[in-house]
Amino acid sequence: MSERALPSRDERVAALREARVVLVSACLLGEACRYDGRCQRSERVLAALEDKDVVPVCPEVGSGLPVPRPPVDLRGGTGVDVWAGRATAVERAAGIDRTEPFQRGARLALDAARRFGATVALLKEKSPSCGSQRVYESGQLRAGEGITTALLRAEGITVLGDEDL
Ligand code: SF4
Repeated sequence: MSERALPSRDERVAALREARVVLVSACLLGEACRYDGRCQRSERVLAALEDKDVVPVCPEVGSGLPVPRPPVDLRGGTGVDVWAGRATAVERAAGIDRTEPFQRGARLALDAARRFGATVALLKEKSPSCGSQRVYESGQLRAGEGITTALLRAEGITVLGDEDL
């Protein structure tokens, strides 16, 4: 997965405005699929999707991980580095490597985008899967993207975060 120039916030928001079908983090729609068993329902997100066809995805639950589940941090880099084999997704407390299910969930999200013709994804910021501008690496919030976002972008899908709205 090579480095590439990302669209600006204005360009990302414009892409969302023009999109007909949008892949969306299910937690932003009100699905209680977060690691802590809660949702992250966002009225701003719902308003932005009013005239769109929505494809909800939760890459982590899609991969078979339970709700609730232990929080996971990226280690050694961000989502791009995970796909390059330089970084991992690891349970914060127990240190268990969850890279494989996180990558599987990302592929399922990409499959859903392709199947339904989504060219834009609106995902939850700061998540190790769905983050698009900032993610936690080894407990520190830093610039970068999650594992699902990195894959979607590599496949030409424009990804923006709820904090872009
Ligand atoms: S941020 Fe992504 S992986 Fe996390 S709960 Fe929401 S949809 Fe699922």
